[in-house]
Order: sequence, then C-alpha cells, then structure tokens
Amino acid sequence: MERRDSTGSETLLDCIVIGAGPGGLQACIHLGRYNFRVMLFNIPGGRTSYAKHLENYLDIPLISGPELLETGLGQAKNFGVTIENARVERVTGREGTFEVQASGRPTAPASSSPPQGPRRPSPRSRTFIVSSGTPTTPA
Ligand SMILES: Cc1cc2nc3c(=O)[nH]c(=O)nc-3n(C[C@H](O)[C@H](O)[C@H](O)COP(=O)(O)OP(=O)(O)OC[C@H]3O[C@@H](n4cnc5c(N)ncnc54)[C@H](O)[C@@H]3O)c2cc1C
Repeated sequence: MERRDSTGSETLLDCIVIGAGPGGLQACIHLGRYNFRVMLFNIPGGRTSYAKHLENYLDIPLISGPELLETGLGQAKNFGVTIENARVERVTGREGTFEVQASGRPTAPASSSPPQGPRRPSPRSRTFIVSSGTPTTPA
C-alpha cells in the first residue's frame, strides 16, 4: 500500500526500485528490513527468469532462476515492500524528489460500480534504484 496523508495525497516514499531481478530484490530486502518505505516496479522477463540453473550464490549451490525470484519476492513482501507489476517509462525530478511514470499501473479501486476507478497519482520518492538488467531473450 502507498501511504497517504490526511489530505489523501500519496506521501513521499524513501525509495523506488525498478526491476525485480536479484539486484533489485536484494536492495528491497535490505531497505525494507530497515523500515524504509519502498515501492518495487517490475515487468516479467529479465535474465534470471530464463535461467534453469543458477550456481554458487552464497549458501545456494544450485537453484532455478524462477525459484530464486519467487523466494526473493516473498522476502521483500514480508518487509513491507509494495510491488507493482508495471513498466517504468520515465523518471523525472520534481522539487528535490523523483516521480515515476509507469504504464499498465492498475487504477485505484472505484467507490461505485465498474468499469474503472480513478487514475492513481504517480508515486514519488526521495531516491530511486535502477536494476533493470540487460535486454535478454531466452537461451
Ligand atoms: C541461462 C542463465 C544462466 C545463468 N547462470 C548464472 C549462475 O549460475 N550464477 C550467477 O551468478 N548468474 C547466472 N546468470 C546471470 C544472472 O541471472 C544475472 O547476472 C542476473 O539475473 C542479473 O540480475 P539483475 O537484477 O541485474 O537483472 P535481471 O535478472 O535481468 O532483472 C531485471 C528485471 O527488471 C525488469 N525490468 C526491466 N526494465 C523494466 C522497466 N522499465 N520497468 C520495470 N521493470 C523492468 C526485467 O523485466 C527484470 O524482471 C545466468 C543467466 C542466465 C540467462
């Protein structure tokens, strides 16, 4: 959940992380562990999701990429990281903060009937981390 202030505006996050590969997830886990307010954006894909066998991460002799990602996402969620399945298109600086525009972001729940709720404001943070990997196709 994004936190809101008394006026209903979304409050400033501490960090927005772009990409839920090992790099982004590790950042999320540590930031969340220290109680920072973190939002993680990810779209499916990335090198890890294609790896059948990942070898020699510390303490993990062998694991599949998808299994590593699933475990990492669970760890991040447990530390309160908000996860959005959306592609970050643009990051802009505004008043000493960063604003992230993402496509495919779900709308806010509608108070009345369908089809859709109102457009949600773009999240803002004090910092952001790009861990979007490199363009990859399955091996
Ligand atoms: C077949 C194979 C075997 C491998 N074996 C090993 C091994 O044995 N040991 C090892 O250490 N490494 C191995 N690697 C390499 C390892 O998988 C990569 O080093 C690692 O995945 C890089 O992690 P990353 O977080 O930088 O990027 P990625 O894992 O690529 O993650 C980046 C994420 O960012 C998302 N993303 C990109 N752009 C956006 C955007 N605009 N908005 C939102 N999300 C976005 C991507 O979809 C992806 O989910 C292997 C790789 C492959 C393909």
